[in-house]
Amino acid sequence: MFGANVWRRVLGVDRSTVIEDVDFDEESETVVVHVRPRRSAKRRCGRCGVRAPGYDQGQGRRNWRALDLGTLRCFLQADSPRVNCPTHGPTVAQVPWARHGAGHTRDFDDTVAWLVTHTPKSTVSELMRIAWRSVGAIIERVVADGRAAHDPFDGLTRIGLDEISYKRGHRYFTICVDHASGRLVWAAVGRDKKTLNGFFDLLGPERCAQVRLVSADAAEWIADVVAERCPGATVCIDAFHVVAWATEALDDVRREVWNEARKAGMTQHARAIKGSRYALWRNPEDLTRRQEAKLAWIAQVNTKLYRAYLMKEQLRIAIRTKGVLALTMLDAWLAWAQRCRIPAFVELGKKIKKNLAGIEAAMLHNLSNALIESTKTKLRVLHRMAFGFRQPEHLIALALLDRGGYCPPLPGRGHSSAPALATLG
Ligand SMILES: [Zn+2]
Repeated sequence: MFGANVWRRVLGVDRSTVIEDVDFDEESETVVVHVRPRRSAKRRCGRCGVRAPGYDQGQGRRNWRALDLGTLRCFLQADSPRVNCPTHGPTVAQVPWARHGAGHTRDFDDTVAWLVTHTPKSTVSELMRIAWRSVGAIIERVVADGRAAHDPFDGLTRIGLDEISYKRGHRYFTICVDHASGRLVWAAVGRDKKTLNGFFDLLGPERCAQVRLVSADAAEWIADVVAERCPGATVCIDAFHVVAWATEALDDVRREVWNEARKAGMTQHARAIKGSRYALWRNPEDLTRRQEAKLAWIAQVNTKLYRAYLMKEQLRIAIRTKGVLALTMLDAWLAWAQRCRIPAFVELGKKIKKNLAGIEAAMLHNLSNALIESTKTKLRVLHRMAFGFRQPEHLIALALLDRGGYCPPLPGRGHSSAPALATLG
């Protein structure tokens, strides 16, 4: 039969676990391995790992599900006494083969976590012989472990903040991504100042002070909290939003011109203007022949509306141009807006001036919303997968596992006990 050394390798435990005996239960087709922690790993608090005096026998002997041995189920069985931790009080003692509070071994947890990010949920359940609803708790443990080993908040200087809806738009998460690494670093239930303040509390004042740039979806509550908590940060305003403002201003002008024509009894003319909406909206390179003709007609019959159109286009081109040239173009545009005598665009000019620091920061540092958008798309897919989890925290853990780089490698593939952050797929 195998010696203890081979059993340790089979079970994926190190020398701090002593193998006492191996039983095979023929009826349930189960291998039960009797184990105990070696003396040096004994009497440690399950939560902090500090050595502590014994307290009581706790729940007595208990089982931890291990990876199957071929086709057989396998359990590790051991005493689970409690220690009296100076910080945490009476706590179940740490065991080297499993995470605190787990009913599965570390390798079992890691295998489930790896599978969750690589295969459909039905495969995970069937292959591992585990109910899907217990997967959420496993992922949460794995991610908590990974975050304890790699502080996700270290060195954050360029971040993106946004809200994302789930449960068909009835509930919300607030999320934070790191523009440097592309990772999701934080997510929490809620979309209000209190939720976001919770994030900055975790960061602490020193790391808050290091945040330089924040991309945010122009939601005012986010900007307010950032201004208060990260005084050194500029909130970047994505080009997409600025172009949307200009399109709104252009639509105001079109409606005004249409109303004027209607009131003057120019019914035919008014109708033609009303129908010009899409020609004015679209980027010139995407126009159809008809829309091009419409635009040419506007240029002839209504110089005010055509000027508004040109201003929208000029702004769009300036915003799309990156770097210092873009800033020069934007400056020229602002001067044009100031003297254009079209109220909607005079207002737009003022709005842009007021938000200039954020717009320029987004243009210079190329901090677009693309990362946030791709993260949100991925989270929607994960949300469907998390159906059946009992707590929103488990969905958050799944998101961090996949988008935060906390997916562990498969056990026994030559990695050390503290693996590096996984690369994002
Ligand atoms: Zn403790």
